Amino acid sequence: LLSLSLQAKMSRPVQARRLEGIDKNIWVEFVKLAATYSTVNLGQGFPDFPPPDFLKEAFVRALSGENHMLHQYTRAFGHPPLVKILAQFFGKLLGRDLDPMTNVMVTVGAYQALFCCFQAFVDEGDEVIIIEPFFDCYEPMVKMAGGTSVFVPLRPIAPKDGKLMSSADWQLDPAELASKFSERTKAIILNSPNNPLGKVFSRGELELIADLCVKHDVLCISDEVYEWLVYDGKEHIRIASLRGMWDRTVIIGSAGKTFSATGWKVGWTVGPNRLLQHLRTVHQNSAYHCATVAQEAVAHGFQREFELYGKPDSYLVQLPKELQQKRDWLVQSLDAVGMKPIIPEGTYFLVADISEFKSDVPDVPDSDEPYDSRFAKWMVKNKGLAAIPLSAFYCGAHKNNYNHFIRFCFAKEEATLKAANDILQKWKQEKTSP
Ligand code: PMP
Repeated sequence: LLSLSLQAKMSRPVQARRLEGIDKNIWVEFVKLAATYSTVNLGQGFPDFPPPDFLKEAFVRALSGENHMLHQYTRAFGHPPLVKILAQFFGKLLGRDLDPMTNVMVTVGAYQALFCCFQAFVDEGDEVIIIEPFFDCYEPMVKMAGGTSVFVPLRPIAPKDGKLMSSADWQLDPAELASKFSERTKAIILNSPNNPLGKVFSRGELELIADLCVKHDVLCISDEVYEWLVYDGKEHIRIASLRGMWDRTVIIGSAGKTFSATGWKVGWTVGPNRLLQHLRTVHQNSAYHCATVAQEAVAHGFQREFELYGKPDSYLVQLPKELQQKRDWLVQSLDAVGMKPIIPEGTYFLVADISEFKSDVPDVPDSDEPYDSRFAKWMVKNKGLAAIPLSAFYCGAHKNNYNHFIRFCFAKEEATLKAANDILQKWKQEKTSP
């Protein structure tokens, strides 16, 4: 019996080659650390406040209302009421007529929208340009599709007169960006407003990218999940609205980020049918479908927002106002203790400089692990405060150039941000008292 069971044990390698080198995941590691040690979790990007009542009520109505068919499959490429209102909403924003059936596709969060794009467009040998720092899943997704990522960093320019840095001070070098485009380039992935820096790309920066896309006949995958979260009167500009770009751009959005309900996992893509038809092929052969009830509720959310567009009662007007205040609280807390914040123009993330805290967590020369990663682990274990190292948003060569920053999420209740402030204050006092 023993020899039989030994024979039955598999000996051949089981892992597909496409998974080589992508088994480690920063979120799995840091989410576990936060769950084990943190008293205040400003790590992973999700709100700890509830979604708006109108959205929750729409979900409850969908769940327990008369229409029991909402518990069954709906249209694979998007529940009809949701694609219809998304087409209307984005049609208005983009100033063009959108067909709900061909210009919009609903996905399982923005994550699956990204996956569909890379699978649909990237072939073996194709290059995809990624602007660093970037939402970390782009690189393994390009790799799984058989492509190669080509990185170009945002380069920080120190502000004058000792002022705090802004995410706008992190800029692309136009010549460096241009040098990354070649006949192998299939796509560029743009994320504005950007996670982790909160940078909102200016019209000039978007035009630079757009001109290169047109010149080299390159696609643009535009991850706009933080499109509503822009501050200080800044404007989120959709690259698809620039000359020559509609035809080559897929816009990606997320109800999770839009309506503070990240667990619902409803996302979408908007673009020309020429591109979306291939996303539909990937979708119908992978996820196929996403939860009908959640789609129905998000449709109601957008219907409401369409009617209130730009008005004071609109959630999309109110949310950024509340978040801007939270951003300012966190900026103050960090600045007061010398953990220099880079003021974000958008998103609910804030990156801070930890250089002045090196005496608490000494550098280990020649360590394989970037300094900020060791620092973030030390901080959650010793101070109970969870954040994410910035180096996690870089790949290869640049990982160690940007290793003295950590990212905080400020989509949190006032009490949570106050608790973070208390931790920082106490830490500062311990540092200064003899
Ligand atoms: N893109 C970016 C830039 C993100 O930050 C996130 C979520 N952290 C996603 C996509 C994924 O969004 P979703 O939760 O809708 O899948």
